[in-house]
Amino acid sequence: MAWEKSGKEGSLLKWFDVMEAEKYEYTVGPAGEQFFNGLKQGKIIGSKCDKCGRIYVPARLYCEHCFIKIETYVEVNKDEAYIDSFTIIYKDDNGNRLTQPISIALVRFPNTEGGILCYVDGNVRAGVKVKFISFQWPLRVKVD
Ligand SMILES: [Zn+2]
Repeated sequence: MAWEKSGKEGSLLKWFDVMEAEKYEYTVGPAGEQFFNGLKQGKIIGSKCDKCGRIYVPARLYCEHCFIKIETYVEVNKDEAYIDSFTIIYKDDNGNRLTQPISIALVRFPNTEGGILCYVDGNVRAGVKVKFISFQWPLRVKVD
């Protein structure tokens, strides 16, 4: 797994503490608000850098190429959304086999940066176009 770092036993920096909160709530921020409000209307909202023209999906507040704040929001064409990559989950967190495997894909849009992780219904494959069937979070798409 990605968070497993190699190192000699006992050499990794660590500390022990007790978490006081059982649950955290984070604000989505100005760009996240644009994105999530878009979902409520069935829209995929990205943010467009005024300097380089790059469009980020989901919307984000800063352009990582120009290091400037982004204040322009655009709706991206969800009819062009496609599966970039995917994984299929066969077991739950405890290692028990799921009755129905779960497909999760990175869904991207042409000429944009970033992507959205979505549940996938149907025969998941890389490169195929998707149709959004739910804008509830996490989003759900289907493929033929
Ligand atoms: Zn830029």
